[in-house]
Amino acid sequence: MQTDSRSCLECGKILKGRTDKKFCDDYCRNAYNNRQNSDSNNFVRNINNALRKNRRILEGQIRAPQEMVKCPRQKLAELGFDFRYHTHQYQNKNGQVYQFVYEYGYLILEGDWLLIVKRKSESNDGSSAGDRK
Ligand SMILES: [Zn+2]
Repeated sequence: MQTDSRSCLECGKILKGRTDKKFCDDYCRNAYNNRQNSDSNNFVRNINNALRKNRRILEGQIRAPQEMVKCPRQKLAELGFDFRYHTHQYQNKNGQVYQFVYEYGYLILEGDWLLIVKRKSESNDGSSAGDRK
């Protein structure tokens, strides 16, 4: 059995009237569109959360005044590090590619070890940082 009835994409009520209608009213159209938008916001938020978590995990591995540390990949994985997400890459003169999550980066070494590094602040030219009162 075939009918002409269509239902509102938001609330499911049967629609009457013009055949191109998708919603029963503006309220349903707005609610539907807002939900579509928040789905893409959720996608952004989830990745941002993963990046922040990755950063926190890397940060937790380095103890000042160290600027780098070796760490088994498995250890980061157990802490919930998500290797899909990083903010940028850095290739050094030897062609080694570091994956960076904000100011923390890692280089994959042999045997599933990682070298975790902290980038020096860009605003600091390496001269005295010790003249703070
Ligand atoms: Zn509706």
